[in-house]
Amino acid sequence: MTAGGEYRDLKVTVAGLGVSGVPAAKALHGLGARVTVVNGTAGERQQAEAAELEALGVTVRLGDGDTLPEGTELVVTSPGWKPSSPLFAAAAAAGVEVIGDVELAWRLRGPDAAPWLAVTGTNGKTTTTRMLAAVLTAAGLRTAAVGNIGVSLFDVVLGEQDYDVLAVELSSYQLHWAPGIRPHSAAVLNLAPDHLDWHGSMAEYAADKGRIYHGNKVACVYNAADPETERLVEEADVEEGCRAIGFTLEAPRMSELGVVDGLLVDRAFVEDRRNSAQELAETADVQPLAPHNVANALAAAALARAYGVPAGAVRDGLRAFRPDAHRIEEVAVLDGVSYVDDSKATNTHAAQASLTAYDHVVWIAGGLAKGAEFDELVAAAADRLRGAVLIGADRALIREALARHAPQVPVVDLERTDTGAMSAAVAAARQLAAAGDTVLLAPACASMDMFSNYNQRGDLFAEAVRAVLPDTAARS
Ligand code: ADP
Repeated sequence: MTAGGEYRDLKVTVAGLGVSGVPAAKALHGLGARVTVVNGTAGERQQAEAAELEALGVTVRLGDGDTLPEGTELVVTSPGWKPSSPLFAAAAAAGVEVIGDVELAWRLRGPDAAPWLAVTGTNGKTTTTRMLAAVLTAAGLRTAAVGNIGVSLFDVVLGEQDYDVLAVELSSYQLHWAPGIRPHSAAVLNLAPDHLDWHGSMAEYAADKGRIYHGNKVACVYNAADPETERLVEEADVEEGCRAIGFTLEAPRMSELGVVDGLLVDRAFVEDRRNSAQELAETADVQPLAPHNVANALAAAALARAYGVPAGAVRDGLRAFRPDAHRIEEVAVLDGVSYVDDSKATNTHAAQASLTAYDHVVWIAGGLAKGAEFDELVAAAADRLRGAVLIGADRALIREALARHAPQVPVVDLERTDTGAMSAAVAAARQLAAAGDTVLLAPACASMDMFSNYNQRGDLFAEAVRAVLPDTAARS
């Protein structure tokens, strides 16, 4: 049973089409609401989506995303819309509430709905949420990875299928528009500057991330190596008895999960945590095995353990987990050189994590910097770099940081910005690499100056690598 009755005949404006707006509009329409979708642009994709919704009886207004439709009683926004959008100013002036799709899904849950184990952070959200779902599945629980990924939240809260518990990935945008959600337990994996143009400042970005802890019932999971995440726990208004649980790549203190002698161990959800810890899995069970990914696995384990999952299921789930494409994906080994696609490293914090995973790296980097600075990243990676191949609009920023912090590293600066540039980048990297090195695509930048998205950037990298494989080597 859901709590959808109050939406009958309600005049709802959905801000934005796309992956969030279309399902929200359909869900509301299905509940009997009178839905108008507004969208500023009117391209081919939007027209096709509009036609699909109009066929159901939903009103769609393309080309004007700023004016609030007459009589609107509730606005449901797509997460990407900036808080400063004129539509929200109009809603505020009219005294109309604005919520996001996640908040709407939360409000539509029935009284016996599955609790949420929620994950956010600057990097590692998708990986951790999927690991968590794999662990919950291994424990025999009916679950799904939802939110920013996988199954639509509306399908889950309104659908026929029953779930025991959900693994929910939440972005900072979604959290901004979801003030009322109350997860069973939640984790903030890390916090680094990202999307500041949207949130306005680091403080506001952190505050939006911190909302995930509000109302937690059992555990607020934080990163012991990232004090900012712990501060967010301290500030959160949680339910009585909810615990703060840390995760660390070092030996765990009390109420932490951590690593001892190559084992993931739990010193939080065990009876005698003063004197003992429970072995959960080996670090070798974590795929791909890189320090930041062990941290992701510990966070997933902490949430699963908060829900009462036994240790053996953590191990089985981590073993069963398969990483998504373009996240530290080994494409091939050629002449002793490993070629790794981490196209999903779209910011400096992510790129730093993957550079740390390899001892000798020829680094392919560059693209749209989104206002980032590269000094810290380059200084931290300098000793590992065997060479760098720079691509994309903002490559000069990385070139200058390399000149300042790693002047000994040979740099190839590729002016080409057509998609064929990736083949040239791989060829240049191959020249710079020796046996034992890793050629790592971890751009630290967004891709849209040269590619449709990070998927295409990674695919073209993999294609370019496979094109130079000898015929005897496996091509997939
Ligand atoms: P998100 O969903 O937050 O974008 P993903 O799991 O898709 O995160 O990983 C995105 C990229 O971030 C990966 O390709 C990897 O380079 C990096 N990454 C993953 N986990 C972490 C982490 N815990 N800390 C830093 N970087 C990470």
